[in-house]
Amino acid sequence: MMGFQEQPQNSLFRFGVNLDKRVRSNHPLRKVDQLIDFHFVYDEVKSFYGHNGNESVPPPVILKLMLLLIFYNVRSERELMETLPERMDWLWFLGYEIDSTIPNHSVLSKARKKWDVDVFQSFFERIVLQCVQAGLVDGSKIFVDSSLVDANASNNSVIDTKGLKHQLHRNYKKLEARLEDNNESVDVSRSYEKKNNRYISSTDPDAAIVNRGKPKLSYQVHRAVDGRCEVITATDATPGDINEAHLMMPLLEKHHTTTGMQAETVVADSKYGTIDNFLACHDQGVQAHIPDLLKVAHKRAAQRGKFNEEQFQYDAATDTYLCPAETRLKPKTLHALRQSRDYAAPKKICAACHLREQCTSNKSGRTVKRHLRQSELDAMREKSRSAKSERDIKTRQHLMERSFARATRYGFDQARWRGLWKIKIQEYLTCAIQNIQTLIKCGSKPKKSVAVKIATIREALTRVTSNVITALNGALRRITPYSGLFFQRA
Ligand code: SF4
Repeated sequence: MMGFQEQPQNSLFRFGVNLDKRVRSNHPLRKVDQLIDFHFVYDEVKSFYGHNGNESVPPPVILKLMLLLIFYNVRSERELMETLPERMDWLWFLGYEIDSTIPNHSVLSKARKKWDVDVFQSFFERIVLQCVQAGLVDGSKIFVDSSLVDANASNNSVIDTKGLKHQLHRNYKKLEARLEDNNESVDVSRSYEKKNNRYISSTDPDAAIVNRGKPKLSYQVHRAVDGRCEVITATDATPGDINEAHLMMPLLEKHHTTTGMQAETVVADSKYGTIDNFLACHDQGVQAHIPDLLKVAHKRAAQRGKFNEEQFQYDAATDTYLCPAETRLKPKTLHALRQSRDYAAPKKICAACHLREQCTSNKSGRTVKRHLRQSELDAMREKSRSAKSERDIKTRQHLMERSFARATRYGFDQARWRGLWKIKIQEYLTCAIQNIQTLIKCGSKPKKSVAVKIATIREALTRVTSNVITALNGALRRITPYSGLFFQRA
């Protein structure tokens, strides 16, 4: 007989709803709960709370709410709070009961403002440390790259601060005052200056216009990823128009602080192959596996049918260059800012040279630039062309693409909030989640604990064997006291 569903009627009382039994044993949040200790946040934020007044939502709950927001890529905090009573797994994760009071969505924005970036940075660093302890970080080789993040502001909000139209607008003064306020409050946490200060967004002044095919208001996130299990060991966010090459050494430094390990090799793409980066790596004893920007310059010179600088031989004894027409180029102007010196042949000789067409179109003759630390630079560049370096550069491409592709699942490429410090929070949370996923996937059975178990079993077996041998020898002594025979361990 077919059964018919009765008209549902709300029960007055419910008993025995145990959320712990309702959440499946292999639920991802169960693993997160087992692995991560959120109670550290009490100590981190205690200075932000007073001793009297209304009781706040417990800080670990706030941190878990923020994690849920990114983990499930929920569109807004309001939507998160509205969905919360319908999700038993989320309620269980937060330590709530089925009929617990749900906090107002504004607790999250208030907490972010109160706690600032440091708490989230500390959370990220703790996860990295946990990965290190689980043996998931090698630490000796890091891969570096950056990616653009779309700002949470429309292109229509961009104004030309020098344009007359905006100066004449009756609301312009109001807007300018607001931007000044914003800049003052933001500058404290922002250590990067935008390159383009003329065109700014009135809704998100920290974002910068980046033109990669289509002009867009953007931020940029920078990451250092360890090669062993692809754990993100260092990260940062900047306005979109910052040159990523300037972030390589700070990321290396952060990697060292977070993991306690000194990277021996840094692998990056050609955008990072600047003179400053090569020399900084040389000074710190770090191998730079980076495609050389000079190669690109040589390729261009070849396309134009001109000699490149490698075709000019340097003679250290006379401090001169020998050009393909065997003329000596002598040291001329010193550029203190660029730390380089120009070498040039006499103007008249160049003008009469039969190779002039292939060498220069400059009326004053050919000039070759030499850095003051050229020999160190050449040594670093030579190493960056090795087979090992080329292998690493190929690996980097897939590894970094993977890291950013996985982050797309958590909405890293679209800013949730406005202001650089909030983008940093978003990035720290995204990276923390990616590392937690790695910890769940690779670190649930840490090698250390397996090794400890094997050692314990071996120790127990040794003890059992020794006891058996002692017992056998005792019995032998009793049977043949003067035989001199005894058992011993093989
Ligand atoms: S143009 Fe001047 S620098 Fe170039 S090959 Fe001739 S002499 Fe040498």
